Amino acid sequence: LHGVVALDGPSGTGKTTVARTLAARLGAGYLDTGAMYRLVTLAVLRAGVDPADATAVAELARRVEIGVGTSPELPRALLAGEDVGEEIRTEPVNRAVSAVSAVPEVRALLVASQRSIIAQVLEGTGGIVVEGRDIGTTVAPDAPLKVFLTASEEVRAARRSAQDTAAGRESSPDEARESVVRRDRLDSTRAASPLRAADDAVVFDTSELKIDQVIVALSELASQ
Ligand code: C5P
Repeated sequence: LHGVVALDGPSGTGKTTVARTLAARLGAGYLDTGAMYRLVTLAVLRAGVDPADATAVAELARRVEIGVGTSPELPRALLAGEDVGEEIRTEPVNRAVSAVSAVPEVRALLVASQRSIIAQVLEGTGGIVVEGRDIGTTVAPDAPLKVFLTASEEVRAARRSAQDTAAGRESSPDEARESVVRRDRLDSTRAASPLRAADDAVVFDTSELKIDQVIVALSELASQ
């Protein structure tokens, strides 16, 4: 793979599975930008800062030391050197992350850092799969391949609930649905880089398609 594959879409569409599997298959790097917003959010919660206080959140975001790995086999998430890969997926972070990621200063900081990580990986392996909400529209608008994954609310809620159960977290299907729908509504309606498909993105609805089929289709597109 040469260049960037931009992979955007709401939660529960199979984005992470697709991105990591594709990157591993293509021998490319992988960047989970959602993990970066989750890391800042965890720092906000740990510091006792109100996620709705944009000024305090922006101030904290300038000081926190976050790190993400770019290997699709082992994507690590570090807060001041501490591995917090599991903690950033818990419900308190799910509930607060949309407010934190709506703060323009937070986005400016993270987009700059994402662009520099992408440039570094491109120098090394030559290719990277980047997943998020604004990759095709903002982070890497020149990416040669942009993909937008969608899925019905039912399917997304069911996937989230299954993920939670697999990770040993209790969540009823109703709770999972409420959490997924709420977050996507907030992400799609914020002023700063809202979640949307780039005009030149290929759209896949993963409600009917199997994730494997999406990966096969994308491997072909990416090798063209
Ligand atoms: O992809 P993931 O579900 O881990 O993303 C967590 C949250 O981070 C999203 O709900 C969204 O609020 C924010 N996010 C974002 N821009 C990105 C990636 C994630 O605003 N590029």
